[in-house]
Amino acid sequence: MTTIDALPHQTPGVLPEVEVCDSVAALISNTPLVELHSLTRGLDARVLVKLEGRNPGGSSKDRIALNMIRTAEAAGALAPGATIVEATSGNTGIGLALIGRLTGHPVVIVHSSDISAEKRAVLAAYGARLVEADWEAAPDDPANPRAVADRIAAETPGAWRPAQFANAANPDAHYRGTGPEIWRQTGGRVTHFVASIGTGGTVSGTGRFLKEATGGAVRVFGANPTGSTYGGGPAGRILVDGVGTAWPRDYWPDTFDHAIVDAVHTIDDAEVYRTVRRLASEEALLLGPSSGLAVATALRVAQDAPPGSLIVAVAPDGGINYLTKAFAPEWLAAAGLD
Ligand code: PMP
Repeated sequence: MTTIDALPHQTPGVLPEVEVCDSVAALISNTPLVELHSLTRGLDARVLVKLEGRNPGGSSKDRIALNMIRTAEAAGALAPGATIVEATSGNTGIGLALIGRLTGHPVVIVHSSDISAEKRAVLAAYGARLVEADWEAAPDDPANPRAVADRIAAETPGAWRPAQFANAANPDAHYRGTGPEIWRQTGGRVTHFVASIGTGGTVSGTGRFLKEATGGAVRVFGANPTGSTYGGGPAGRILVDGVGTAWPRDYWPDTFDHAIVDAVHTIDDAEVYRTVRRLASEEALLLGPSSGLAVATALRVAQDAPPGSLIVAVAPDGGINYLTKAFAPEWLAAAGLD
């Protein structure tokens, strides 16, 4: 950060109190917490939502993109100007593409066919190269997104694969950022923490910090969509972007820590999308589907929590990137969710 007086084109002495970030990367993290009032009516617990959509790339994934790139550069795994190749449902790709722009790394993103048009356009605007893969292909299928990303990386000299599902810098970003922020913002009074599970980095890293800070007192919950096996149910179609897995029941990413998560709740799609709509219409919070999933889980947790509980739920991204999906009547009707 620098003061506006230090900028070359400003008249000295004008607006001396205004602070300016010297890089977009400095805008990552320190996202606000906002309290719900309408959806929590009648409940004794308070529910706070952490607005990760306020990161510059629009999601919590800016945090892990920054930490994974920083760690790889420090370890010598990512040379200056080398290409970054990753399989991602969108947000991690946007974070990587944003930081790739700032640091001069070309970025190749392998994505699924059902990525929203908005996310695809954002990736293209940051200059990422886009490659489509079959998100439902099994891990040993060459069409599997991670297999496609591995192949592109092998063919690109010096390329680096962040491998967000196996990279310790993913949960570490939340252990060092999201967790301490929630602790500070709640004055250490948080009693329950809820995050939807994609890689599990958010729930595991943040949960670990909060458990350490409270001597294990904070309860940590994962939120899971229908069709994802993380909740113990059968594999099926997943209609919530960026979360869940359709892989077999015994699959857990390295970035998920069983020792931290007390329970995983599965919420059906109708409740997820109803919660997304209510967040927008009653709380004026335009959030993505995985935020609806986390908030719906937090409301369930609130029903069983002791009076006075302070529940924090992560909203991984905002709703603007889903205007053609979660907020479009045609998409909802086609998905049987209207
Ligand atoms: N919601 C969205 C929209 C995401 O993109 C992700 C990350 N894939 C998550 C939730 C889950 O976060 P995590 O990977 O840390 O479990």
